[in-house]
Amino acid sequence: MTHLSRAQLQQDLCYINGQWTGAEQTIPVHNPATGEQITSVPLLKEVETRLAIEAAHAAGEAWAATSPKQRAGLLRRWFDLIIEHTEELAQLLTEEMGKPIAEARSEIAYGAAYVEWFAEEAKRINGDLIPDGQASRIFTVVKQPVGVVAAITPWNFPSAMLARKLAPALAAGCTVVAKPAEQTPLSALALAKLAEIAGLPAGVINIVTGDPVAIGRELCSNALVRKITFTGSTNVGKLLIRQSADTVKRLSMELGGNAPFIVFDDADLELAVTGAMNSKFRNAGQTCVCANRLYVHASVYNQFVEKLTDRVRKLRVGNGAEDVDIGPLIDSRAVAKAASHVRDAVAKGATVLVGGGVHSLGENFFEPTVIRDVTAQMLVTQEETFGPVAPVVRFEDEADVIRQANATEFGLAGYFYSSNHARAWRVARALECGMVGINTGLISSEVMPFGGIKQSGFGREGSHYGIDDYLIIKSLCHGDLN
Ligand code: ADP
Repeated sequence: MTHLSRAQLQQDLCYINGQWTGAEQTIPVHNPATGEQITSVPLLKEVETRLAIEAAHAAGEAWAATSPKQRAGLLRRWFDLIIEHTEELAQLLTEEMGKPIAEARSEIAYGAAYVEWFAEEAKRINGDLIPDGQASRIFTVVKQPVGVVAAITPWNFPSAMLARKLAPALAAGCTVVAKPAEQTPLSALALAKLAEIAGLPAGVINIVTGDPVAIGRELCSNALVRKITFTGSTNVGKLLIRQSADTVKRLSMELGGNAPFIVFDDADLELAVTGAMNSKFRNAGQTCVCANRLYVHASVYNQFVEKLTDRVRKLRVGNGAEDVDIGPLIDSRAVAKAASHVRDAVAKGATVLVGGGVHSLGENFFEPTVIRDVTAQMLVTQEETFGPVAPVVRFEDEADVIRQANATEFGLAGYFYSSNHARAWRVARALECGMVGINTGLISSEVMPFGGIKQSGFGREGSHYGIDDYLIIKSLCHGDLN
């Protein structure tokens, strides 16, 4: 196979039923670091979405009938192609999304890991054999693909968030219509290009770009779509849940977070500062599992804040294509939100130790920021900031900090640092969230179930649980066996 260049991987058309398809109207795709337009992609609406759904449905029967080994082989080929094109995919990702190129490479590897994992899991979709009280009867349980899946993905991890939906869906025998975020469609289209080369049959993966409201409405109301899997904001998630009620669809929702990051007095402070840097400043704070609120015990508060501020001062901000730690935020609206959170905190008595405002590089850049003397009354602890702002709250007591940590409608990730084993177990169980980092700020892995509770959603991605979201359980009662 010939190696595709960065330019050859950039697709400006949608992928429907194995065809690269355009539209009269298009939407521009911009580089957030420079403001330049990279290209434009089709502006599709209901009609084209319906065609994509029908293509996925038509391809579904043959795809579901392939053997697990066949599906595993195709996914494995796709995985190999993604890995082989890591550099080109990473460049495309940085260009459309802004993250530093080193992080873009990690994202490609992270997304690919789901493809590899679910290639393997395709072969392990096992059922059960259940004996009955009556000798003349026995039950078997078989697992079958749920059917056509609609996947809607966000801009912050445009490659990995799609890979981790496509891979389990395809492994299970489902076909997919995917809608990437309008800011970052190119990473999704490039993955589809590689899937095409890998030999995935026409109609198995369809990518539609365009009007989110029109596409979303069709995906939710069309009875051929049996499942919606969504990663994005809680508000859009709630809308999709409501819109899917009439056709009673299976749903997986990975929504917003407001992760607490707690440093107890018995923590290894150096480790905790490194964890906070990783968790808070990766992707410029634009991850749903980002530490959003840092709680530090009063006895180590000043020390922690000082060390954190020193580290944040050293962060290099710039165009992600260069050797920097922090790229631009996705757009000036994101910058405005970070700025408003800092302003609100300062107005209510907090102090900015470093950063705090729009960066001199331009309207899409925000200065890496640390704020101290933060309280529960401030927006920065109540809402997801989604920017490079670390607000640090002082606490005295374990029970109180757990209460504060849980005082949110969200429940995606939580983190804490402690060297006390009993405390670690106690706090891990008490935190109301789907994932807990204990003495680490980086938790994601394809082998771990990723997902939230409360208004952070439901369903799990990755791990051996992940494929269940794309399977139905069917019970067969075998009678008259005597
Ligand atoms: P953010 O605010 O971080 O952009 P969103 O939840 O708005 O998060 O976006 C996540 C994904 O949801 C994107 O693909 C976006 O296009 C999509 N989206 C936004 N609004 C709708 C909608 N009404 N119906 C379906 N998808 C939508």
